[in-house]
Amino acid sequence: MSYPNTQLLIDGQWQDAADGRTLPVLNPATGAEIGRVAHAGIADLDRALAAAQKGFEAWRDVPAIERGRIMRRAAGLMRERADGIAAILTQENGKPLAEAKIETMAAADIIEWFADEGMRVYGRIVPSRNPAVRQLVIKDPVGPVAAFTPWNFPINQAVRKVSAALTTGCSIIVKAPEETPAAPAALLRAFVDAGVPAGVVGLVYGTPAEISGYLIPHPVIRKISFTGSTVVGKQLAALAGQHMKRVTMELGGHAPVIVAEDADLELAVKSSGAAKFRNAGQVCISPTRFLVHESVRNDFAAALARHAQALKVGDGLAEGTQMGPLANPRRVVAMTSLMEDAVERGATVATGGARIGEAGNFFAPTVLTDVPLDAKVFNDEPFGPVAAIRAFNTLEEAIAEANRLPYGLAAYAFTRSLKNAHLLSQRIEAGMLWVNQPALPLPEMPFGGVKDSGYGSEGGPEALEAYLNSRAVSIANV
Ligand code: NAD
Repeated sequence: MSYPNTQLLIDGQWQDAADGRTLPVLNPATGAEIGRVAHAGIADLDRALAAAQKGFEAWRDVPAIERGRIMRRAAGLMRERADGIAAILTQENGKPLAEAKIETMAAADIIEWFADEGMRVYGRIVPSRNPAVRQLVIKDPVGPVAAFTPWNFPINQAVRKVSAALTTGCSIIVKAPEETPAAPAALLRAFVDAGVPAGVVGLVYGTPAEISGYLIPHPVIRKISFTGSTVVGKQLAALAGQHMKRVTMELGGHAPVIVAEDADLELAVKSSGAAKFRNAGQVCISPTRFLVHESVRNDFAAALARHAQALKVGDGLAEGTQMGPLANPRRVVAMTSLMEDAVERGATVATGGARIGEAGNFFAPTVLTDVPLDAKVFNDEPFGPVAAIRAFNTLEEAIAEANRLPYGLAAYAFTRSLKNAHLLSQRIEAGMLWVNQPALPLPEMPFGGVKDSGYGSEGGPEALEAYLNSRAVSIANV
């Protein structure tokens, strides 16, 4: 199967780095090099910044309806090209082809929602105290944006940022993941081919710390958006703070799944099982801390273990694969260390718990039971295919555990009681709560966290606000 090399996108041109540097791209199912990605240097970044400034000055004056038309063309191209893009995404990231196709098609939906919402960026006329004065609130694009996106959803993590920037009239430079470069390049290619003017979207790869260290303080850049780990997010937010740049941070999570005494167990197993092992658990909103009522704990654990055992693990391109390899060898090392720690502290491995084979980054779908609270897997974001289960006796106890960690991204609950559902909706400290259903991060709903999981939103009208300045203009009639 073919896999393209990836170039930089600067000023509307696909090009190699000025000094010709490249990095290898590996297929996580085999470990083999499948292509190369251009590695930008400072000279490339300077050209990308100049283009972003020029692109912004042109794009901000394009009416929202015309911006929307171009964006909808890009959405159409993503749909037309979905099979080819999905195959590229699976080769570089490992996820099953079906998941890669869903990610590609979802990008088209997201682009369209943002294209439409751009028509609803309203200012206000505020009644004035003086009849001769007219008071206006005007919404303007914030300016050129620097976005940093990770490898777990190479298209999805980029498309929300690019769409929010474009629909509000900003330009954007995306520093996409070096490990999975070709799928985000295909996304930006759709925008370029749809007619987005030169400089409005840029794409670079290289050494992440060098690029963020250069772009964030740069005077051209007016806003930063980052998706990745909390540790890195805090560093970048601190740097942005020093330079007074607007920031959106979508960081790590450690999502609790509360299975109450009165839960529909079959639904809980089916929906949280599917969510848990999707993308091999490398999902910021992946269910990770399973808090199950004592009375149903054994039944739930046994059913989830059966679900995990039945999953077909393999190369994402192979027919019937339900879970692919982890995206990089670092995750295998991390998972192995989490397993050792959990077992040492007294957890029981109900199924899985180890790497599969020698080639590629395969790790077995894993269910751990009786996991002690001090086990690393119950404290650090696991970012892998492990479900860690603990029992609870009262809902208050489960809520306290759910809120114990500094993370606050996603949370899930299964209960038939309206009273429980209301209590959970009031008390759970998470940016997103799904009750009796799997995660459904639709573009029209806010997407983001609280506490150490970051701030700002990548969905709903709030996602556009993050790319807008509100200015007060007062005009007296003389
Ligand atoms: P990492 O923390 O080094 O990198 C996470 C992401 O941040 C990568 O995309 C990386 O390119 C980028 N990054 C790292 N340092 C940067 C810098 N100085 N400037 C700009 N970007 C930088 O580690 P990793 O091994 O790639 O991933 C490990 C952890 O990251 C995971 O365990 C998970 O907690 C988190 N993560 C979260 C998400 C998410 O969707 N929120 C996605 C990927 C990774």
